[in-house]
Amino acid sequence: MNATPSWSAQVLTVLPEAFPGPLGLSLAGKALDAGLWSLDVIDLRDFATDKHRTVDDTPFGGGPGMVIRPDVVAAGLDHAAAHRPAQTRRQIYLSPRGTPLTQSLVKELATVDVVTLICGRFEGVDERILQARDIEEVSLGDFVLSGGEPAAIALIDAVVRLVPGVLGDQESLSEESFEGDLLEYPHYTRPRVWEGMAVPDVLISGHHERVREWRQNESNRITRQRRPDLWSRSVDSRKARI
Ligand code: SAH
Repeated sequence: MNATPSWSAQVLTVLPEAFPGPLGLSLAGKALDAGLWSLDVIDLRDFATDKHRTVDDTPFGGGPGMVIRPDVVAAGLDHAAAHRPAQTRRQIYLSPRGTPLTQSLVKELATVDVVTLICGRFEGVDERILQARDIEEVSLGDFVLSGGEPAAIALIDAVVRLVPGVLGDQESLSEESFEGDLLEYPHYTRPRVWEGMAVPDVLISGHHERVREWRQNESNRITRQRRPDLWSRSVDSRKARI
């Protein structure tokens, strides 16, 4: 194990068994084992005050479902901060009401020492904890999950691949989707002809400049077709650079 990981994630959850899950496998898992990043899984039930380890209660005002108590989350957050003191920390509640997660937010999160994530369950958490502890809300997208855990795993996975040393080939980062607001060009490998479909000639030409041009054009075409919103942003930012 290395002494200090360059990036740490902390997860507050009522389902600690959900972690590390896929984060313990492949590139993220190897980097976790190597100490390039660290993961603290904090069981919210450890901060319950009754013998049944209750973390939730019925909503004031009535209605269906249960709400996670603010005192339980606060105690979990205090423990998290004391366990891993940091110069720079972001505290995030995964929530469908949050700012959508984008690659630029992922990049920002990779620059802080510790990201502390709160996973909701049931109807979510008591609103007061969000105000009292100045917690940001981040959403995975416009759909409703049954808990924040899959969202936390997705967010951590996206950040971890930006931690230096995690991906073997740092070059592959600079050509990816969302770089310059463009989606990535298509990839091909062997066999050269498969089910009657041949790999585009230019990719076998050995002509690096033409390959680069083809990929750029494909990136542009796919972005224009699939994500007009990204395309207009990309055009604007290129204009701004001229
Ligand atoms: N009643 C809430 C939904 C609760 S879903 C509402 O209508 O807004 C239970 C938990 O799942 C939430 O507390 C949140 O932590 C998580 N969750 C659900 N959808 C999510 C999404 N799109 N992004 C991030 N977290 C989400």
